[in-house]
Amino acid sequence: MATDYDAPRRSNDDDIAPDSLEELKARRNEAKAAAVDVDEGDTAESFELPGADLSGEELSVRVVPKQDDEFTCSSCFLVYHRNRLAEQHGNQMICVDCA
Ligand SMILES: [Zn+2]
Repeated sequence: MATDYDAPRRSNDDDIAPDSLEELKARRNEAKAAAVDVDEGDTAESFELPGADLSGEELSVRVVPKQDDEFTCSSCFLVYHRNRLAEQHGNQMICVDCA
C-alpha cells in the first residue's frame, strides 16, 4: 500500500505523464459530457422547434385551404400553389394537371 502510493510520487517524470493523462481523460470526459449535454439539448431543441413549426404550418394550411398564394383546383380539389394555376374562370380554378 505504501509502496503503491510511493511509486508514482518518487519519480516526478512518471508522475507528470499519468497525471496529465488522467487530467486529459477527466477533461475529455467533461468535454464529452458537455458535448453530449449540448448535443442532446441541441437535438431536442432543433427537433422540437421545426416540428412545432411544421405542424402549425400544416394545420393552418389545412384549416385555411386557400391562402393568398394558393388555390383549390375545381377539378381535382387539391390545393396548389398559384404557380400551378393553369386556368381560372371566375371561382373555378384549374391546376396544370387538370388543364
Ligand atoms: Zn386539378
